[in-house]
Amino acid sequence: MSDQNAQKQQVPAIQGWFTMPPQEPHIIASRCSVCHGYFFPPAQVCRNPNCKKDGTMESVMLGNKGKLEAYSVNYFSPPPPYHAPDPFVPFGVGMVSLPEGISITGQISSGFDEKNLEVGMDMDVVIEKLYEDSQGNDVMAWKFRPARK
Ligand SMILES: [Zn+2]
Repeated sequence: MSDQNAQKQQVPAIQGWFTMPPQEPHIIASRCSVCHGYFFPPAQVCRNPNCKKDGTMESVMLGNKGKLEAYSVNYFSPPPPYHAPDPFVPFGVGMVSLPEGISITGQISSGFDEKNLEVGMDMDVVIEKLYEDSQGNDVMAWKFRPARK
């Protein structure tokens, strides 16, 4: 019906930090060839202070299943550049440890009741809409969703 819907696109909030399109969701990190440390956001140079730093950084897709280490719920609207819906909707934020041993922070998938969050629970990485931009595109980012049992 609507031309606007036909032209609606999914665009990444940040290019190169996660896979697009979202069907096979992975966060993208950097891995040092010398100390084998993982870094997110992706780094050009190893940030391990004990590393000789004469290696190269390779881009790696992290495993998309992890464990919830900590979480909180935002009941207030963060300042820009956060794009708050009007009216504001509280959202969960979680820190999830991924199989590579790196912990990453992200929003909890929208539509999930934060009262059911539990430290240690299994989480899936998902790529979901963060907000709609002024052209009507869905701006996408990584989020975490409790794994289906
Ligand atoms: Zn290193």
